[in-house]
Amino acid sequence: MAEVLVLGAGMIGVSTALALQARGHAVTLVDRRDPGQEASYGNAGYICGDSSEPYPLPRDLRTLAAFGLGLRNDVTYSIGAALRMAPALWQYFLHSRPDRLAMQSRTYAEMSRRAPAAQAPLIEAAGMGNLISRTGYYEIRRDPRQAEADARAAEETRARFGVRPEILSGADLCAREPAIRSQVAGAIWWPETWLCADPGALVQGYADLFKARGGVWANGDAKTLRQGGQGWQVDTDSGSVVAEHAVVALGAWSPAVLAQFGYRIPMVYKRGYHAHFDAPKGLSASIMDGDNAVVLTSMTRGLRLATGAALVDMNAPADTRQIDRGVRGVSDIIELGPRVAEPQWFGTRPFMPDMLPVVGAAPRHKGLWCHFGHGHLGFTLGPASADLFVEAFEGARSEILSALDPARKVALG
Ligand SMILES: Cc1cc2nc3c(=O)[nH]c(=O)nc-3n(C[C@H](O)[C@H](O)[C@H](O)COP(=O)(O)OP(=O)(O)OC[C@H]3O[C@@H](n4cnc5c(N)ncnc54)[C@H](O)[C@@H]3O)c2cc1C
Repeated sequence: MAEVLVLGAGMIGVSTALALQARGHAVTLVDRRDPGQEASYGNAGYICGDSSEPYPLPRDLRTLAAFGLGLRNDVTYSIGAALRMAPALWQYFLHSRPDRLAMQSRTYAEMSRRAPAAQAPLIEAAGMGNLISRTGYYEIRRDPRQAEADARAAEETRARFGVRPEILSGADLCAREPAIRSQVAGAIWWPETWLCADPGALVQGYADLFKARGGVWANGDAKTLRQGGQGWQVDTDSGSVVAEHAVVALGAWSPAVLAQFGYRIPMVYKRGYHAHFDAPKGLSASIMDGDNAVVLTSMTRGLRLATGAALVDMNAPADTRQIDRGVRGVSDIIELGPRVAEPQWFGTRPFMPDMLPVVGAAPRHKGLWCHFGHGHLGFTLGPASADLFVEAFEGARSEILSALDPARKVALG
């Protein structure tokens, strides 16, 4: 059995460490922070079994212009960062073409379908079942025409992917969720999504499970990764660790670390924010408000409002515009109550232009592996994607692995 260094302890790295460990490998998990503190900490808590489209870029000029002019809350950007991301954004635009999207969606939907079943045994073994509710989410619309269009799209999705959306009226939604105080035009309930009330705690729980099963944890900086005679080496607080294999599972920081080895990774860095509210009434399922581009989920810290994407540099200061706009937008349907005082959190979705993660061997270095780029769905996909990663690690080939193969996605510098 091999010795493996897993770099990055977000949902993806921790899941990878557990999956490799389950196959008998000796794994050291390394992060510069505690497990689950970045994107995996502050997300909307969805474990989606019924996600089927990997967030394509709209291709109609009207929507793109609305994004560009800041008329919608889905996307904000800084011009400098958007220009730096321009090559990746252009590829993203090309991959969003309907025929390519249909192809990518097959892989994406298959991964999503496998996700809850892959999480379930870990949730149980980590003793984290109290954080999970299997109540799904409602996608809501205020405009009747938009609600009808969404309902038609949901029916098509049902036919293509075998998921089970339920079309509801505004009155149905109010009856199911007493916190919703005014009727919207329509809602779609996606029942195969589970909700986690504290995503960071779940990742920490998985990391504790990894340690309890004999895994080694170390604080260290992945930027010190180097190739040596016996494989791969990284500096940690407990000294230098050497292993035959190294897995880069650093989320949005993966391209920067792999650049040291000559890989150019086109990534779209989609930052998101959250805020918690001490709402008088919580929600049993979650609300995805497409009109205001926010998601509301009841969590242990309060009602969490999570935002869409801000295309900014990784070190840009926090900008709460999308939260403020989202708060104003949802106030017609729910009383949020006072905002919980806490430092402003943000995290970055590591999003690949082809909308699928990177899973497998780095093309040019023996023993170097990639597992990142899970975009909007990394919290969901961790364990299912880790199972695929282990298949690639053990030399398996399949259609799905070929769609995720690093050789197709990274350029050599
Ligand atoms: C607002 C928001 C809402 C979201 N909602 C959902 C959702 O509901 N469901 C869903 O499935 N997904 C959701 N996502 C996406 C999901 O959170 C991410 O896809 C996922 O967390 C990515 O996990 P990761 O492990 O790749 O990255 P991260 O969780 O960011 O982990 C990367 C790790 O690398 C470490 N690291 C970085 N640099 C170094 C270094 N030099 N040395 C050592 N360690 C380093 C970091 O400390 C961190 O622990 C959301 C994201 C956001 C921002």
